[in-house]
Amino acid sequence: MAVDLHLHSTRSDGTDRPAAIVAAGAAAGLAAIALTDHDTLDGIAEAEEAAARHGIRLIPGTELSVDGDEGPFHLLVYHLSPRGGPLQNRLRDIRQGRHERNLRIVLALRNLGIEITYDEIAAEAVEGQVGRPHVAAVLVRKGVVPDLATAFDRYLARGRPAYDERYRLDHREAVSLAVASGAVPVVAHPHTLGVTAADYERVLTGLAADGVMGVEAHYADYAPEVRRHLARLAASLGMIATGGSDYHGRYKPDLAVGTGRGDLAVPDEVVEHLDAARATLPRGEIGQ
Ligand code: AMP
Ligand code: ZN
Ligand code: FE
Ligand code: FE
Repeated sequence: MAVDLHLHSTRSDGTDRPAAIVAAGAAAGLAAIALTDHDTLDGIAEAEEAAARHGIRLIPGTELSVDGDEGPFHLLVYHLSPRGGPLQNRLRDIRQGRHERNLRIVLALRNLGIEITYDEIAAEAVEGQVGRPHVAAVLVRKGVVPDLATAFDRYLARGRPAYDERYRLDHREAVSLAVASGAVPVVAHPHTLGVTAADYERVLTGLAADGVMGVEAHYADYAPEVRRHLARLAASLGMIATGGSDYHGRYKPDLAVGTGRGDLAVPDEVVEHLDAARATLPRGEIGQ
C-alpha cells in the first residue's frame, strides 16, 4: 500500500477541506496520509475525525519555511501534536509574520498600480492561512495575469517586485523545537534547498548533523531516477526517505492525492520509519 505525506487543505493554501483530502486518500487506497498545512495544525482535528471514519491513518504535520545556510527552505514536521508543545507555541509568531508579510505584498502590488485589497485575498483563502497562491488567484481573477504561474513569475516569486520576506525560524531552532515537541523534522522537496543536485550530499550531511531526520525523496515532481537517487542518499546518511504529492487542490491542478502526476507511490514502510524516529525523541512537555 502507498501513503501520501505532503498535503495542503483549505487551512492553508489548498482548496479542499481536510475531510475531503482524507476521503480522497481513502479512495486512492492509501494506508496513511499526513496533513501538512503551512504554519498551522488547524485542520488536524477535522482530518483525524475523517480518518477514523474512513479507516485510514492520519499523521499530524505542518510545513514551515525556515532559514538555512544556503537560503530559505521548507521543513516538514511529522507527528506534531495539535494538543500543544514548544514548536506549536511558536507557530503563532510565524503566522503573525505571515500576516504582516501579506499586508506588505498587497501594498507592493498597489504601488505597482494594481487595484487589490487584503480583504479580496483573505476571501480567496476562505478559512485558512493566507498565502501567495491566494494572491495569485486574485490576480488571475482580475485579469492582471493569465494564470497562477505567471502571477509568481511576474510578481510573487523570490526576487520579483511584490515579493517580501517573512519571519522564519532558523532551521536549527526549528529542528530543536520540533524534537522537543516529539516531532520528526524532514527536508521538503530538496530542489528548493538553493543548491544544485551535485551539492545535495554535502548539504544533507550538514542537515542530518543538525538533527533533520528525513528527506522528501519521493516527491511528485521528481523523475523516478531523482527519487531513487535521493532515497539512496537518505539511506546512506541515516535519514528517512519520505514522500508525498504536495497536493494543493485547484492551485496545483495536475496533482492528485496519493499518485501525484500519476506515477507516485510512496512506500508505506516510511510510516514505520517515522514512528520509529519519533519513538527515539524525548517527549518534552507534550501531552498526547
Ligand atoms: P507562502 O507560504 O505564502 O510564501 O506561499 C508559498 C506557496 O506558494 C508554496 O507552498 C507553493 O504552494 C506556492 N508557490 C511558491 N512558488 C511558486 C511558483 N513559482 N509557482 C507556483 N506556486 C508557487
Ligand atoms: Zn503551499
Ligand atoms: Fe513546500
Ligand atoms: Fe507543500
